[in-house]
Amino acid sequence: MTNRTFTMIKPDATQNGNTGGILEMINAAGFRIVAMKMTHLSETKAGEFYAVHKERPFFGELVTFMSRGAITAVILEKENAVEDFRKLIGATNPAQAEEGTIRKKYATSIGENAVHGSDSDENAAIEGDFFFSKLEQF
Ligand code: GDP
Repeated sequence: MTNRTFTMIKPDATQNGNTGGILEMINAAGFRIVAMKMTHLSETKAGEFYAVHKERPFFGELVTFMSRGAITAVILEKENAVEDFRKLIGATNPAQAEEGTIRKKYATSIGENAVHGSDSDENAAIEGDFFFSKLEQF
């Protein structure tokens, strides 16, 4: 079944000039871009996006990092999109990410790990709607 997932190219990857390289890996893996924008998360908005992690010890660091610079928000479509995209990005900690994954190539640490990927169809829809109106989702 064709479905959708949501990704963000995080501030580390944006600042390191890796936006194009990451989009190329995403396209090469067969994902279609159905919405995309470059934007900047305020600390408040970053905290809202990651609200599920607010009790975690790294929450403050995560919010500071994610609001540090521009991000690119993208909705992607493919068969089995959520699971296949999690495989493409690799483990949260790049030290554990497999060869050929986006995080292996572009992440520098467990916090600054280049990309986000939704963990379920339900969260993919919620996260896509966080950034895009229905008119902006093609
Ligand atoms: P993901 O689904 O692979 O992105 O991982 P999680 O949902 O567990 O964590 C969300 C994001 O929080 C990660 O992608 C990291 O950017 C950040 N994060 C997770 N664990 C840590 C940590 O131990 N330290 C820091 N600074 N950030 C973390």
